[in-house]
Amino acid sequence: MASRDLQEYRRKRDPALTPEPFGGPGQTGGSRFVVHKHSARRLHYDLRLEIDGVLKSWAVPKGPSVRSHEKRLAVHVEDHPLEYAGFEGVIPEGNYGAGPSIVWDAGRFRLVKPEPAREQLERGKLEFELFGFKLRGRWTLARMSGKEREWLLLKKADGYAGETEPIERFPESVLSGLTVEELRDGPKRVETLRKRLVELRAPRAEIAPRGELLMLATLVDEVPSDPAWLFEIKYDGVRVLASRADDHVELRGRSGQVVTSRYPEVTAALRALPLPRFLLDGEIVALDDEGRSSFQRLQERMGLTSPADIERAEAEVPVSVVFFDALGLDGHDVRGVPLEARKECLKLLLPARGVASYGDHVGGHGAEFLAAACERRLEGVVAKRRASPYVAKRSKDWLKIKCQLRQEFVIGGYTTPQGTRAHFGALHLGLYENGELVYVSKVGTGFDDRTLELVSEKLRPLARATSPFARGTPGGRGHHWVEPRLVGEIRFSEWTRDGGIRHPAFLGLRDDKRPEDCVRACAAR
Ligand code: MN
Repeated sequence: MASRDLQEYRRKRDPALTPEPFGGPGQTGGSRFVVHKHSARRLHYDLRLEIDGVLKSWAVPKGPSVRSHEKRLAVHVEDHPLEYAGFEGVIPEGNYGAGPSIVWDAGRFRLVKPEPAREQLERGKLEFELFGFKLRGRWTLARMSGKEREWLLLKKADGYAGETEPIERFPESVLSGLTVEELRDGPKRVETLRKRLVELRAPRAEIAPRGELLMLATLVDEVPSDPAWLFEIKYDGVRVLASRADDHVELRGRSGQVVTSRYPEVTAALRALPLPRFLLDGEIVALDDEGRSSFQRLQERMGLTSPADIERAEAEVPVSVVFFDALGLDGHDVRGVPLEARKECLKLLLPARGVASYGDHVGGHGAEFLAAACERRLEGVVAKRRASPYVAKRSKDWLKIKCQLRQEFVIGGYTTPQGTRAHFGALHLGLYENGELVYVSKVGTGFDDRTLELVSEKLRPLARATSPFARGTPGGRGHHWVEPRLVGEIRFSEWTRDGGIRHPAFLGLRDDKRPEDCVRACAAR
């Protein structure tokens, strides 16, 4: 078996007759995986792993099982080009594999053993860990003795093994949210959604996407307990307003900046959704190995603007988007509709698991929900009034309750590095109080070599001779001052009585927040 062989793939297909992609072998080094659910002559699942610039592929008739050591036949089939990872469509009658095929799961994988994948394949045993939307944890592919194409796929016993089968619980695509039947016959859910929008008397109106449209939550200490509230996870990423008008898709950050080109996997998923017009509110997230949204991991994507850098990072740090609200749906303005009804409509549009997914909520037990979120080391929870309309301002109908204290601070300077450290020692932080920038603290931990370099590159052109702080500037030597234009997110244990912070750690730069919005909001608690 040649390692990069797409001849068999091409021999079986005619580019004039099938919508499937026909790229050549791609760059090596990526680690994507994808599982197609393919309703051909017989329904099956195709597991594909990116190895040596192609997608090594196995057809699994019964699909993957998460029951530990439940063996599933996996027939090794021809290599597919890398572009096939994003292919979803109906292969017309008369072609090889005719029928609908959806991207049932996708993500990245990691080999358990250090030997090159090619060697492990030749030996007939591949152990790997999957980081997908539905399949996670450790898996084994083992060739049956004496066979060439027949392998077995099985789930190793770990925290991700279990009795509830993802193939039953989550039948939809992680791209379009459609099942194979819906891809073939058209989605009935969209008809239901359109009827519902009329019943709800949502007016027909187009909303021009602008950052200032976003509804913002008020930070509080206590979870409300009465039944008027529902509770969502507070996602640790960047807020985004996503709009679509037919093929035109746009992503805007909090302050209105267009960030569409930074997240190509998100825009591809938005185009795949079965509704041509929408304006949705959500959060772009990068998941860590435990499946939690990680702002620190997202830092590796946030600042990238060159397409080559983005393409490289997309393989290592894939992002997804969780939508928790809708402003516009199918040409209707739904901002006046109660939150719970807006979310019911949103749920008809989006899959529970996927690149663009629905952000679910719980109906009560807010305190227990917060405790569970903190236990999982999430950022916190958001409480929302069930009956509230969507308004473009910070509102008391949305409350955020955090597990740890975190806030954005303005960076006004830095100290000379000590010892072996490069670039700077600590950053000087401040907050606005009555229009004046007031010194709060310095932060010297939370940096690695990469962030030290990144931050100092951004500080260098902002240098100025005098402190930008109106009050509280520290005395002594070794201080350097900058124009107060950069915003950093800082985690800390508590506010001190004199307005300082304890145990601060740097989490990352926020280019989606404005310095003048960094105010002393919750110091006096
Ligand atoms: Mn197939």
